[in-house]
Amino acid sequence: MTMMRYSGFRLIKEALTGDKGWQPAWRDPEPKPHYDIIVIGGGGHGLATAYYLAKQFGQASVAVLERGWIGGGNAGRNTTIIRSNYLLDGNLPFYEFSLKLWEGLEQDLNYNTMVSQRGVLNLCHTDGQRDAYVRRGNAMLMHGVAAEMLDRDGVRAMAPFLNFDNARFPIVGGLLQRRGGTARHDAVAWGYARGADSRGVDIIQNCEVTGFRIDNGKCLGVETTRGFIGAGKVGCAVAGSSGVVMGKAGLRLPIESHVLQAFVSEGIKPLIPGVITYGAGHFYISQSDKGGLVFGGDIDGYNSYAQRGNLPVVEDVCEEGVALMPAIGRARVLRNWGGVMDMSMDGSPIIDRTPVEGLFFNGGWCIGGFKATPASGWCFAHLLATGEPHPAAAAYRLDRFRRGRMIDEKGAGATPNLQ
Ligand SMILES: Cc1cc2nc3c(=O)[nH]c(=O)nc-3n(C[C@H](O)[C@H](O)[C@H](O)COP(=O)(O)OP(=O)(O)OC[C@H]3O[C@@H](n4cnc5c(N)ncnc54)[C@H](O)[C@@H]3O)c2cc1C
Repeated sequence: MTMMRYSGFRLIKEALTGDKGWQPAWRDPEPKPHYDIIVIGGGGHGLATAYYLAKQFGQASVAVLERGWIGGGNAGRNTTIIRSNYLLDGNLPFYEFSLKLWEGLEQDLNYNTMVSQRGVLNLCHTDGQRDAYVRRGNAMLMHGVAAEMLDRDGVRAMAPFLNFDNARFPIVGGLLQRRGGTARHDAVAWGYARGADSRGVDIIQNCEVTGFRIDNGKCLGVETTRGFIGAGKVGCAVAGSSGVVMGKAGLRLPIESHVLQAFVSEGIKPLIPGVITYGAGHFYISQSDKGGLVFGGDIDGYNSYAQRGNLPVVEDVCEEGVALMPAIGRARVLRNWGGVMDMSMDGSPIIDRTPVEGLFFNGGWCIGGFKATPASGWCFAHLLATGEPHPAAAAYRLDRFRRGRMIDEKGAGATPNLQ
């Protein structure tokens, strides 16, 4: 199947000829008995992995197995923030690699993923917090990543609607990454799916992996709801289901699953220029192109596989939002939902081989894996195709918890609900 090119000219032509020339963006193939590489999970990470396996590493026999429909998990449930404003060596180059891939993604995929570099502003509310942000900004600058520290007046000029005059936790400044921003989450899954499919990847939906066939320590393939499928190598990228799926291979991961909620208000006129995060609690907000305020806060704080959250966190998130921007107290929340987060013990991800030969793992993305989608896919594809870790992801080893080499970006220790 050749990939249909999208263009303004094509849109006009189709509009004038009854929209009869469009083709499905990807096929719906039957599973083959065997693939060189199987990727479990049709979220952003699994689809990006398959895309780069085919495009960068010339792999011709690849399948993505998705339990439900592609993009139905966290890929389609997140608040779409992309950024690379990290502090630690293990993280910063990886997330900057990802941001660079975001910057060229639409051209690469010929798909409108609505990457919008509208800026990410992290507010600080104490002198100590400002010092920490200056340190983070300096780490970014030393890695060649642009960062700006705004004082209170600078923040006020950018976001005059924040609570400056009567706040319990006054704003003292903010760390700004202008290249950060948002992207259209499900378009990212669809764009990667379309690009992978056109390069011969079989995307098989409604195909749940129920077990692994392991012989003498080597993975030979996967048991699924559509029968056994053999594989030379298997890569698992199932985000919130990581513990359950890898448990079927007899592996216990340093990961807990928790719920994170997201909220969208009714549409209002353009108000928020970029992404703003509140530093005196955990609250982040942006505005969608349709006008809805998109926001979220802390995880629900108990282990769960339910894709919905509970009211105490709804109250907490809304309280923080109103403390930061009293005006939004008048906007009505239209909808909220939850996703299942694969919370690792240091808040950083894992892209590594496992003790089972031929079985590889990608997970532990916590609440921040959307922005990682392109680099995660690229680095996982690199590992699967070459057997060697990509340099940008070399620190994301599974055994770092045993060896004590944590990448504890937040300094929260092995406490998933604080990451
Ligand atoms: C409310 C919310 C807000 C968020 N906000 C942000 C943000 O602003 N910025 C950011 O960077 N990150 C954010 N995240 C995190 C981000 O969404 C995730 O880290 C990322 O999407 C996880 O990778 P994925 O897209 O591959 O996951 P998913 O889309 O969840 O993909 C995993 C897939 O595996 C499938 N699967 C599971 N078990 C099996 C099985 N046995 N067999 C076959 N398939 C299986 C699932 O159905 C699912 O489709 C947010 C998450 C949530 C829930």
